[in-house]
Amino acid sequence: MSEDQFKHVISHAKEYGFVFQGSEIYDGLAAVYDYGQNGVALKNNIRTYWWKSMVQLNENIVGIDSAIFMHPKVWKASGHVDGFNDPMIDNKDSKKRYRADVLIEEHVEKYVQKIEKEVVKGRKRFGDSFDEAQFRATNPNVQRSQQTIDYINGEMKSAMDSGDLDRLKGLIEELNIVCPISGSRNWTDVRQFNLMYSTQMSATDGESQIYLRPETAQGIFVNYLNVQKTGRMRLPFGIAQTGKAFRNEIVARQFIMRMKEFEQMEMQFFVQPGTEMDWFEYWKEKRLAWHKNLGIDAAKYRYHDHIKLAHYANAAVDIEFEFPFGFKEVEGIHSRTDFDLGQHQEFSGKKIQYFDPERNENYVPYVVETSIGLDRMFLVLLSDSLRTEQVEGGEERTVLALPPALAPYQCAILPLVKKDGLPEMGRAIFDDLKLDFACYYEEKDSIGKRYRRQDAIGTPVCITIDHESLTDQTVTIRLRDTMEQRRVPVNALRDLINSEVSMNALLRSLS
Ligand code: ATP
Repeated sequence: MSEDQFKHVISHAKEYGFVFQGSEIYDGLAAVYDYGQNGVALKNNIRTYWWKSMVQLNENIVGIDSAIFMHPKVWKASGHVDGFNDPMIDNKDSKKRYRADVLIEEHVEKYVQKIEKEVVKGRKRFGDSFDEAQFRATNPNVQRSQQTIDYINGEMKSAMDSGDLDRLKGLIEELNIVCPISGSRNWTDVRQFNLMYSTQMSATDGESQIYLRPETAQGIFVNYLNVQKTGRMRLPFGIAQTGKAFRNEIVARQFIMRMKEFEQMEMQFFVQPGTEMDWFEYWKEKRLAWHKNLGIDAAKYRYHDHIKLAHYANAAVDIEFEFPFGFKEVEGIHSRTDFDLGQHQEFSGKKIQYFDPERNENYVPYVVETSIGLDRMFLVLLSDSLRTEQVEGGEERTVLALPPALAPYQCAILPLVKKDGLPEMGRAIFDDLKLDFACYYEEKDSIGKRYRRQDAIGTPVCITIDHESLTDQTVTIRLRDTMEQRRVPVNALRDLINSEVSMNALLRSLS
């Protein structure tokens, strides 16, 4: 898919009530989005598909819904207060904000490119006798550039390691780094920018600073004991939850790919220490199967192993999807060891352990987590399913070929004309089917126009009522993907629609 098609996805999402810019009438709020009437339905259906596949299909996984506000110590223990940071600097002229380390790295890259140019020149000059290693070690220009690179990297590393932000700014000034937009060197001081949003909570002894959670996982860790004991859970078992997370992303772009307020669907699976790698492999496969089960082109998915692991992880893999801007993470599967529960045990002073009757011992369980962004999954589905097709007569139609069970509406009920008792029959069908399916009712415009509108929001089945329907109790059903039309009895509608759109069937093919 090209950039143009991606623009089409964004404009289609707006035009058909899926995603709007947040606070749009006030010119929007950067990287914040609202879901419209169709978007919320699709989002809810994705969440349901995830929830049922986790909680309903697995006897040893239960769900919770923990609060967004948590005790400030949670984020101390988890490492987010001290470690969830980026060093930021602003240019006073362009008012643009940058990551200080990235500005310096980009500067270093110029010297790397200089060296590469010298090497190319050298290769030309010396031909077959060119010895690259020797050239790099002895050429004065290369050596000068390399020394500069080593100096800058050394300075940056020691400034970063010691948290010396003045030194970081000093380095930017010393290197004469300019803002790519304004071209000026008019920089603010460097500040450590924590990605967590904070606010105040009143308490009897004054105000205290609390955070909006940057991930839902910690709500699960702090409830581990509650759930394990009240649910009489035995290892291995999982706790699932969906909910909002907040990150003050500086470089927020690519539509709903990177938002400041987004929703996660996470499952923490608690296991015996030593078995975590088997479970890691298990969930890695299970989760990819969940994506593929939606009928999305398998070639657009791949695993991406983390080469550099977070301090708490002993294995991590991303499930990536090929967006128009390249393969990007949609979901992460992480083996988090006993890091989080261990930290909470230490910071809370409460014993967080599992008594294993088989081993006859107490220990802190290990955790394998699956973490997927609901909004990113929404973008996967929109990107994958939006198509423009040529139809008979040289016309084009825009179809959102969503997995039928996830579509905002499962069927549309369309009386051919707005008179002669057709609307009444249509409403009776609507009132009957609405108990089982999300139904859309519409009488306005030509039937062709109405079909196109349903195609554009992904409705898999349209039901048309005509004059014949009044006499023989049959209607026409028209399928979104094939545009095939069939005459069927009204009393067969429920089963027919169900066979086309059932979430149940989707879950069945998963298990
Ligand atoms: P990235 O490297 O893209 O910033 P991450 O590694 O920080 O992502 P995790 O902390 O592993 O992401 O979060 C799990 C999932 O939450 C991601 O796979 C992604 O789908 C989603 N997610 C994370 N940050 C955002 C965001 N700012 N907007 C939308 N979804 C997000």
